[in-house]
Amino acid sequence: MRPAYVSLNERALRHNLAQVRALSGARIMAIVKANGYGHGLVWTAKALDEADAFGVASLEEGLELRAIGVRQEICLLEGFFDAAEIPVILRERLTPVIHDHYQVAALKGIPGDRRCDAWIKVDTGMHRLGFEPAEIPAVVADLAALPCIGRLGLMSHLASAEDPDSRATMRQIDTFRGLGFPAFRRSLANSAGILRWPAAHADWVRPGLMLYGASPLAPQGPSPVALQPAMTLRSRLISVRRRKEGDAIGYGGDYRCPCDMPVGVVGVGYGDGYPREFRTGVSVLVGGQRVPVVGRVSMDMLTVDLREAPGAQVGDEVVLWGEGLPVEEVAHAAGTIPYTLLCGLTQRLPRRERP
Ligand SMILES: *Cc1c(COP(=O)(O)O)cnc(C)c1O
Repeated sequence: MRPAYVSLNERALRHNLAQVRALSGARIMAIVKANGYGHGLVWTAKALDEADAFGVASLEEGLELRAIGVRQEICLLEGFFDAAEIPVILRERLTPVIHDHYQVAALKGIPGDRRCDAWIKVDTGMHRLGFEPAEIPAVVADLAALPCIGRLGLMSHLASAEDPDSRATMRQIDTFRGLGFPAFRRSLANSAGILRWPAAHADWVRPGLMLYGASPLAPQGPSPVALQPAMTLRSRLISVRRRKEGDAIGYGGDYRCPCDMPVGVVGVGYGDGYPREFRTGVSVLVGGQRVPVVGRVSMDMLTVDLREAPGAQVGDEVVLWGEGLPVEEVAHAAGTIPYTLLCGLTQRLPRRERP
């Protein structure tokens, strides 16, 4: 068996959920789309059973949650893509987000023997999904008249919440607050909104990334909470060799040893979802010691400079990200964001519960 695997820590997820509760009095819709940000949808939802609701991207994800007995509200963050999904949404008591006129049109003519609650998505400035603020009264009137629609809420999404000085975010919050319909429940904040913008918390917050223990804020930025990584990507050293000064390591021979030195091979690569391109150097932990990755990352392996870990040997534990090495740091070095690394892990990696 290859030594690479994903180590999952349920306690960390629960801890992070408690951190959200400590930061905000709002109800919590735990966002578990994209297979629980790569952690596994079912595992994540079970660990977060104290969330007030779950948010998913598709009917399939919603059904999977109902099938394991999730009783909380399950919100379809993009609603339905096709009218054929509506009877299933009603039967399974899912809560769609309605963001476009074609969805309102599809709901007309659905009989009222079953009802679902719905969120109306408002475009307060992100310009992705949602109705213009000026359209909201008409959309509310249309939806409220439909026999299959129960309670309505207003939802919007922040485009630049990680920036503490963002005027665009201030405008989005003001627009959202000015929509009227005070009896409707409201939801605006993702993780960055929860961490940076208390004024955006409203009735329901929608944390994703922070529940998994990563911060959307800059890696060195101050965080008002202590998050714990729910996932650690681990593998082992599968070879350790002494190389000579001037030896070229791996594909293309990009890296040349500056002196005689030990070089280790770690059993993980881009075929597992580890990045192949880095803007700056990146480290891994070998037996808890930070060592730099050198040479090109291969599909199944990568090579490390072991001068700082002279006692390292075959079989030693390697951490690629997670406990002791924030995924934010690896993402930053790779010129990407922690979201893509977590979601990008491939199926061949086994997932194991941390003891
Ligand atoms: C994914 C998503 C979130 C969660 O965002 P994070 O940045 O991961 O906290 C919240 N709301 C909506 C509508 C989303 O699509």
